[in-house]
Amino acid sequence: MQRGSQVALFLVDERMPEMSGTQFLLEAIKLYPEARRVLLTAYADTDTAITAINQVGLDHYLLKPWEPPTVKLYPVLEDLLSEWWAKARPAFDGIRVAGTALSPASFAVKDFLASNQVPYQWLDPDEDATVREMLAGMNGGEPHLPVVFFPDGTTMEQPAIRELAEKIGLQTRAQKPFYDLIVVGGGPAGLAGAVYGASEGLRTILVERFAPGGQAGTSSRIENYLGFPSGLSGADLTTRAAAQARRFGAEIINTCEVAEIRREDPYRKVILSDGTELSGYAVLITPGMEVRRLQADGIEPLLGAGVYYGSSLTEATLYRGRDVIVVGGANSCGQGALFFSRAARKVSILVRGPNLSAGMSSYLADRIRETPNIEVLVNTTVVSARGDGRLEGVTVRDGAIGEQRELPAAAMFIFIGTAPRTAFCGDLVQRDAQGFVLTGRDLMNDGQRPAGWTAARDPYLFETNVPGIFCAGDARHGSGKRVAAAVGEGSATVSMVHQYLQTV
Ligand SMILES: Cc1cc2nc3c(=O)[nH]c(=O)nc-3n(C[C@H](O)[C@H](O)[C@H](O)COP(=O)(O)OP(=O)(O)OC[C@H]3O[C@@H](n4cnc5c(N)ncnc54)[C@H](O)[C@@H]3O)c2cc1C
Repeated sequence: MQRGSQVALFLVDERMPEMSGTQFLLEAIKLYPEARRVLLTAYADTDTAITAINQVGLDHYLLKPWEPPTVKLYPVLEDLLSEWWAKARPAFDGIRVAGTALSPASFAVKDFLASNQVPYQWLDPDEDATVREMLAGMNGGEPHLPVVFFPDGTTMEQPAIRELAEKIGLQTRAQKPFYDLIVVGGGPAGLAGAVYGASEGLRTILVERFAPGGQAGTSSRIENYLGFPSGLSGADLTTRAAAQARRFGAEIINTCEVAEIRREDPYRKVILSDGTELSGYAVLITPGMEVRRLQADGIEPLLGAGVYYGSSLTEATLYRGRDVIVVGGANSCGQGALFFSRAARKVSILVRGPNLSAGMSSYLADRIRETPNIEVLVNTTVVSARGDGRLEGVTVRDGAIGEQRELPAAAMFIFIGTAPRTAFCGDLVQRDAQGFVLTGRDLMNDGQRPAGWTAARDPYLFETNVPGIFCAGDARHGSGKRVAAAVGEGSATVSMVHQYLQTV
């Protein structure tokens, strides 16, 4: 059962040492309700067999002996198997996750698998008696949810994300002692750096804290990326880019967060949060942005239980036919609202400003206006979130009239802007007041090179104040904040890395 295998037919002897065939069938059909049931009986057991027809919905009973089998046994089994086969649905033979819908721990596992494009089947014991039976057989009947069932028959209870990553075959440790290029972050900029670095012969490793794809990976449809006239999903773009990087020989290590970068000339060291050190000649920083946290009462306890940062595409189906709130006013918010409008009864977009168009591309704003089940509430902010174990409603404030009101909502998805994720740069790499990394000409002060600069040239376009440490993508001061811009910068940096490597 835990392997997810199917059973077509039970052929059971009524007389067995530990339990009767009828008792066995009573239990077995709870797990495999679709299986056909045949009982082998002696003449003396005929009454029992007839009782079993009612108790376990017996399909057939065979009197022993069944000689010759070609006449008495096989035709019966063949008929029952064909009947089963005609109705059978193929078993899902991938990973299955059993958990409760509004649990932060279950959400973390689902989010990780989905972000890494690992298909899984969701099993909810609250909805499905078969799942309850499966779980009842584990760990004294009270396993810690979520439980992950793997096709090889093994299970993990409430797994740590690193352990889960290793189990599903993701690389989590570097294989080489030294690299030419270490890329920090696996969004579009980092993946482009890895593809170009590895394809041009550099020993390249990409270090990703959660899942390759970054912000772009969470986008349901990127419509403005060159060459894809009908758009492509962030997941699709990520899968293709990661496969391409690996094909050229780049290593991608997952669930590894960079905590610090050190300069130990001529080497650059990248220190992971578990203390692991990676050594190389050059580093490309592409950590992108993280979503800002919403400051409102009641948010924290409901995270993963109705309140989500970003689009959390995995959760959309949970809110089919329900009322959903989307907070924000930029493109990511618009894409999220359109995505949720397909399943939700109503989507309310809460915009702090006086209109939608200020922060959103006009093609998205137009599509939102044309979607009948999306309403836009302007001048509106979230005061608090309410719910007992799951989100039930949100108190909002209409800034134009200065009044508060209650909006019922099963889910609230928050997209209120982002900040660069560059704290690990510490004092080594210069950043602007908002935390964006300074590069190239932005480091020059009245024609003077940055303090501590050691090379006999100016910093390259995407080079930081430390020779050999580069930055590309959204985390870079002055960058385009678009997928194409990040990809362009990540790829272009590799030629600067080549020039730098000629000097070390
Ligand atoms: C929902 C959404 C929809 C969008 N839609 C579009 C669109 O349609 N078109 C468009 O052009 N742009 C779109 N954007 C913007 C676009 O996604 C970003 O501009 C782009 O992803 C930036 O790429 P990046 O590689 O610089 O950073 P990111 O995509 O932010 O990736 C950074 C990566 O680095 C990792 N990381 C961060 N810190 C560390 C660390 N310390 N150690 C290891 N790893 C780390 C992160 O986990 C992340 O995977 C969208 C953004 C969002 C959020």
